[in-house]
Amino acid sequence: MTTPDVAAGQPQPPGATRGFTPEAARRDVPVLHRTVNGRPLVWLDNGATTQKPRQVIEALTAFYAAANSNIHRGAHTMAREATQMYEAGRAAVAEFLGAPAPESIVFTRGTTEAINLVAQSWGRANLGPGDDVLVPVLEHHANIVPWQRIAKETRARVVPVPLRPDGSVDQDAYADLLSARTRLVVVSHASNVLGTVPPVREMTALAHRYRAKVLVDGAQAVAHFPVDVTDLDADFYTFSGHKIYAPTGIGALYARPEILQTMAPWQSGGNMIESVSFDRTTYAPVPHRFEAGTGHISGVAGLLAALNWLTAFDRAAVADYETSLTAYAQQALAQVPGLELLGPVAERIGVLTFTLPGRAPAEIADRLDGDGIAVRAGHHCAQPALAHYGLDAAARASLALYNTREEVDRLVASLLQLAVTGCAHRPASPAS
Ligand code: PMP
Repeated sequence: MTTPDVAAGQPQPPGATRGFTPEAARRDVPVLHRTVNGRPLVWLDNGATTQKPRQVIEALTAFYAAANSNIHRGAHTMAREATQMYEAGRAAVAEFLGAPAPESIVFTRGTTEAINLVAQSWGRANLGPGDDVLVPVLEHHANIVPWQRIAKETRARVVPVPLRPDGSVDQDAYADLLSARTRLVVVSHASNVLGTVPPVREMTALAHRYRAKVLVDGAQAVAHFPVDVTDLDADFYTFSGHKIYAPTGIGALYARPEILQTMAPWQSGGNMIESVSFDRTTYAPVPHRFEAGTGHISGVAGLLAALNWLTAFDRAAVADYETSLTAYAQQALAQVPGLELLGPVAERIGVLTFTLPGRAPAEIADRLDGDGIAVRAGHHCAQPALAHYGLDAAARASLALYNTREEVDRLVASLLQLAVTGCAHRPASPAS
């Protein structure tokens, strides 16, 4: 993984590796050291967005302080430097995902835009009447709605793949639903509401037997365990920078090079053309053909710094730590009377979505916030997954590499207080 020297626009040699401890990670992340409502912050909303290490913040500052320029045009030094940094970012994403070449990576605003790109470009050209798109019930709305829209236009069908009672994807039902009609299977590499990690490699191999393509939504996966798109044999893979310690507004699509070559542009304008005339316009080669307009250049500097920060740690050690923290949290939460945890026990990430009898999820989040603990409440953009449990909302604590057992203990102490006495630790206000 290369590190950008954004000021000089030059990639640097790979950074030194660091031994992983959650404390080492925490020390790098300034916001984790603030207080909220008078208590030290416990950030358990990592599924929504992760906090940023100073290395990422500094990369953004350095870009704007010393290196800001548009890219791919302008014959001056800073344009060349910014272009080099941007393309180094592309190469770093390719390496991070195990992709065969930087040209197989398209920068997008995030997962949502990447999926819409595939739906609008590949889907429009390849779906038609009688075709099926298989979509597991646990998908995020970003991996349901774009398929519903393009299916409606092309008269294809979106076919839900059911879940087992524990929130895993029903593999027997999946095998039964696959057929010669299946053109595409989409699946999350990790669910943002149930934590489920489906057997994506096996699902992909099965889909390929029917000559179907497979899109994997990696939004909740990439921060938690190493990903190799070549090993998965995925045709498309998407992720969002902000869920992997990078800024918002930047993300990436990996597409198998042979497929990307066949895809028509989606958005059009500057940057994506080779030549324009009123008689004939030709398009730039991939991946630039899919990057119309000025991209999030500083976002790429931040993404590069984030990937470099994360991969400097031993990824296997990070994954092991998160797995043991998740198991610890599952056991600790089981002490809270009546608390129901959704999702499978194993084969999961540290997304802990739960309900408490007699407590609305919004109330739980509000009470925890009073104790400085940030969790999310609502439908988590995965209404069909919650409906599988007969719910329309739930509370969710989601873990990251910088969370600790002490933080889980604080969550559980507050929930116990709420479950037992009906209020959390928040000091009573004079009016109450
Ligand atoms: N897919 C999954 C599994 C997600 O968790 C999210 C974000 N919650 C998305 C897609 C959409 O990501 P973004 O909003 O960054 O485009």
